[in-house]
Parts: sequence; C-alpha cells; structure tokens
Amino acid sequence: MRKIIIAGNWKMYKTISEAIELANGLKRELSSLDYAAVDVVLCPPYTALSEVSEVLSGTEIKLGAQDVYWEDEGAFTGEVSCPMLKDAGCTYVIIGHSERRQFFSETNETVNKKLKAILKHGLIPIVCVGETLAERERNETFKVLENQVKKSLAEISQSDIVKVIIAYEPVWAIGTGRTATPAQAEETQKYIRDLLSAVYNKTISESIRIQYGGSVKPENTTELMKQPDVDGALVGGASLKILSFADIIKQAGKVSKG
Ligand code: PEP
Repeated sequence: MRKIIIAGNWKMYKTISEAIELANGLKRELSSLDYAAVDVVLCPPYTALSEVSEVLSGTEIKLGAQDVYWEDEGAFTGEVSCPMLKDAGCTYVIIGHSERRQFFSETNETVNKKLKAILKHGLIPIVCVGETLAERERNETFKVLENQVKKSLAEISQSDIVKVIIAYEPVWAIGTGRTATPAQAEETQKYIRDLLSAVYNKTISESIRIQYGGSVKPENTTELMKQPDVDGALVGGASLKILSFADIIKQAGKVSKG
C-alpha cells in the first residue's frame, strides 16, 4: 500500500510575510480535515523555509525545498546544502524540476549527484522527470523517460531507492492548464514502474511512490489519483491558493489505494 503524497511547489512566489500567511491559511483549512491518509508537503522558496517551518510545527504538514546543491559546504556562491535545509526544517527536497532543467542547466548527472547527497543526509528526494511536447509528438516519451530515470537514479542501492519519490511531470502540462488525461498519466507512470521493476525488482517497484504533476487542480484530482500507478501529485499553481490546495488534499484523501 502506497500512501498518497501531495506536495505544493510554490516556485519563485511569496515573500516571507506572504508565505507565512499562505502556510497559516492552509494549516487553518486542514485543521478541520482528516488528511491522515495523505502526506502533505509545502515547498516554499528558500527565504521563507524557516518561517514556514515554524508555522507548520506541531502539524503533520511537512516542509520541502525546491532544489539543493550536493556539497555540504564550501565556496559555492548562491547555493544551499542539505545540512542547511535540514537546519531550516526541511524533510523533502525536489530535484530535477523541468524549470531547473530548462533554465538552469540541470542535467540527469547533476540530479544524480543531488540525489546521492539528499539520501546521505536522510532527506526525502522528489525526483522530477518528464517529456516535452515535441518529444511526446515524436513518440519518444518512453525513451526520454528511460534515459532520465536510469541516469538520475544511477547507482542508488535497493535500500535507498525505496525512499525516493518520483514525480512524473510532462513538461507540456506544467503551468499550461493542459493536464495529462488520467489514461496518459497512468500509461506513462506504469511504464516508469515497470522500468524500476526491471532495474531493481517488482517488490521494490511496487513500493516506490510516483506522483503526477502538471496543472493538477481540484477538478481533476480524483480521476488522476484513482489511477493505480498515480500515488500523489506535485502541484504548482493550485498550491498557491489555500482553498484549491486544501481541496486537492481532500479529494486525494477520499481515494483509497490498494
Ligand atoms: C510544478 O511546478 O511542478 C507544476 C506541476 O506546476 P503546475 O501545477 O502549475 O502545472
């Protein structure tokens, strides 16, 4: 049984005071909900991590970062390390987001270095993969995903791989309002699970959570979460609105996974 995980990626939105307001609003909204069946994670920008961590203390809502650097410390201007994220209250770290791949030269190789550092420090990685529209239209989706999954997760042991969360995020669905259909998400995520089964084994692949990301909103959550290989969502835009994000968590909580 894989527990559904809903994570909100706030991207480069929210000043510290705005982030506190959003986190407090979510905390208030979720306090009247039974969301025990769902892991909930908020990923604000670095500047707001400590303050949001304080807001979330005493709740079951966890904190995540949107990226990390693989070294622990050193002359790496502008970068933030795993020990720093832990110090700020983080449990989760998103890596390999398509916006980082597209605008900040993230590669499968740098994702792999980050992944190893995250696991070494006992944080939980959310590793993003996904094809572009051109790749999907050229029927290259599976080939692209095979390359991303194998290279990003290279040299990860059996005992570590089960701690990894994968987020399948088709690039054409991120921030576009164009969601993958539940059938498209299922087909692709089943492909990823089969790939993990071939690289590791069936028991391991069955225990790894695979989120879907790309224009998830309250209206499409239930159908997406009902898919056997969809174990949660990585949510961008809709995580910036208290009622939308709370509603996504509520819908997800109603879908029981076997
Ligand atoms: C994301 O940022 O990972 C994302 C899926 O964004 P959106 O929900 O806005 O498409």
